[in-house]
Amino acid sequence: MANTGLLGPYRLTFDAIDAAVTQTSPGVFALGHADPGGRFCVNHVGRSDADIKIKLRDFIGSDSLFKYGYFPSSEAAFQKECALFHDVRPPRNLVHPGRPKGTSWECPHCRIFA
Ligand SMILES: [Zn+2]
Repeated sequence: MANTGLLGPYRLTFDAIDAAVTQTSPGVFALGHADPGGRFCVNHVGRSDADIKIKLRDFIGSDSLFKYGYFPSSEAAFQKECALFHDVRPPRNLVHPGRPKGTSWECPHCRIFA
């Protein structure tokens, strides 16, 4: 599996999210589990355009582990989310990442928005 370049993994619990994610920032996350060899396996990737911590809390209970990364803008987070979507092909991401309403951002890896 491709290296995500994200921090972690951490347990996907309220307390572990609170301890690991200390900044209010746009970000990208990967949810997953550990395989029998202890390697992190990505099931789903996503992003927050404003606050990665709040977004992660929405997914508590859906998986066991998460990784995350802060990004300086929601556009940077969008580009990273697209890169992970195309590189990792997470099994629970059934549709391409969306761009925020009102933007004309393009995916750097495909022509879905062209
Ligand atoms: Zn794409």
